Amino acid sequence: MEHPLRVDEFDASEMPSSVGVEPAAAAPPPPAAASAPLPPLPNLPATDVLFLKPSDAHYADYLPAANRRTQLSPSLRAVCKTEHAVAVMVDWVRTNNLKFAVRCGGHSYEGFSQSVDVVIDVRGLSTISVDKTAGLVTAGSGVSLYHLYQALAAQGLALQAGSCPTVGISGHLTGGGHGLLARSHGLTCDSLQQVTVIDSQARTLQASATSEPDLYWACRGGGGGSFGVATQFVIRAFPLQTALVFGVSWTLSQAHAARMFAAWQAWAPNAPSTITSIMKVGPAGNGLITMRCIGQSVGTETELRNQLQTLTTLATASRPLSVQSLSFLNAVLHFAGPLDYESVYMKAKSDYVLTPLDTAGISDMMAAVAPIPVGGVVLLCDSYGGKIADVAADATAFPRRAGTQYCIQYYSSWTRAADTPVHVAQVAKVYAAMRPHLPGASYVNYCDLDLPDYATAYWGSNLGRLVAVKQEYDPDNLFHHAQSVPVSLPAA
Ligand SMILES: Cc1cc2nc3c(=O)[nH]c(=O)nc-3n(C[C@H](O)[C@H](O)[C@H](O)COP(=O)(O)OP(=O)(O)OC[C@H]3O[C@@H](n4cnc5c(N)ncnc54)[C@H](O)[C@@H]3O)c2cc1C
Repeated sequence: MEHPLRVDEFDASEMPSSVGVEPAAAAPPPPAAASAPLPPLPNLPATDVLFLKPSDAHYADYLPAANRRTQLSPSLRAVCKTEHAVAVMVDWVRTNNLKFAVRCGGHSYEGFSQSVDVVIDVRGLSTISVDKTAGLVTAGSGVSLYHLYQALAAQGLALQAGSCPTVGISGHLTGGGHGLLARSHGLTCDSLQQVTVIDSQARTLQASATSEPDLYWACRGGGGGSFGVATQFVIRAFPLQTALVFGVSWTLSQAHAARMFAAWQAWAPNAPSTITSIMKVGPAGNGLITMRCIGQSVGTETELRNQLQTLTTLATASRPLSVQSLSFLNAVLHFAGPLDYESVYMKAKSDYVLTPLDTAGISDMMAAVAPIPVGGVVLLCDSYGGKIADVAADATAFPRRAGTQYCIQYYSSWTRAADTPVHVAQVAKVYAAMRPHLPGASYVNYCDLDLPDYATAYWGSNLGRLVAVKQEYDPDNLFHHAQSVPVSLPAA
């Protein structure tokens, strides 16, 4: 099993400090207090909602967020089990003018699903029903990716989505969703057939190609927390019995690493769409670079091995190429990391590479990564092209389609709150080194509060239509967070 967020080139003793969770003794300081005392709670039965206040026995069970750096303790968490409960909660927060956040899997990098006031938590909406004949899965909006994968695999079906098992479907799908089947099957949002949304007036809307089409468009790439609370998704699945998983690693000088990266960059976005690869780049100490190319193919092993020769003939591997044929679920497990909910301190930033990096850009990347302590940062480069590029840039709210080469995620995680400034600075340093070479397009699912113009960075040419959809469905901006879709276009 390997964890995509780590460059697993190290012995156990040298593993990046992101493995494991900080002991309770070093827990973060208590968060800021809620802004106001709560009014009487809505009259909802326990079959509809689980209300959790800090004094309740199970309060702590629902607290962990993927990023401990942004985790907050709400004065009320409403774990909604029904669509009705979500509608009542939306009405209650609106009429009482309460601050709130909407939460599913809690993986928002910047904590947009966190609040010290109220959290409308959809994790009680956890039913999954698979229609094998129609190739459709109907999922409550609170399910995790792994729960979906399991339910689908039991019917011989699969879904293209991210590798972290505890990521929630709501944030992931509405922001796009790329994973190791992205080039063969597209983004997760590309398979959305229908979404049920509770809007700012607590109405239930069914959005699809034929009903509320603008909302349907916005829910495929516009990101979570801007238009309403999704309660259910109908998603197209596909048959997949087995997939090939692969991985190969190198430890290289900066010059050799630059050559390897250039070869990957020329190959990966243009490879047969059966193959999706991620190139990971990290510091190996002593000025060296560690690189690991991982991926998945739904083609033949011969094709995959032939294709990978582009990389494997360039340098001697420090960990030789391995190719395995696994069932869909075992392929998921291969890249899943721990199945338990992991909560670490982390920071990420991202770039879309819209035209290939030139020699100076790649060289600056290696020069910025090499001096960082081993395990201090990893760059994850997800190849695009293939089926992602078959969808027009304006067909969904997700704008990075034809021509997009890959997405770079600059990522660091750590276990002690005291180490936060160092790690945040390391990520920022590598990102800064790439500014002369990249246009500043970012992935909404790797949200980053440092972006000066997040709306343009995330949505590019689709921003105008997203703003229009926001004006239509949530003109009073009830659903907002620090980087939600704005009600008006930012000043030029
Ligand atoms: C460890 C890790 C691995 C990851 N791996 C991948 C990957 O392989 N590929 C990839 O594309 N991304 C990946 N991501 C990013 C992930 O897709 C995003 O963080 C995603 O938004 C998380 O969704 P969530 O529901 O878990 O998060 P949450 O924090 O619950 O929600 C994210 C956003 O959606 C909103 N939201 C939540 N539920 C609803 C709802 N029901 N209706 C409306 N809005 C809602 C929240 O308010 C918030 O703004 C990863 C993230 C982490 C932390």
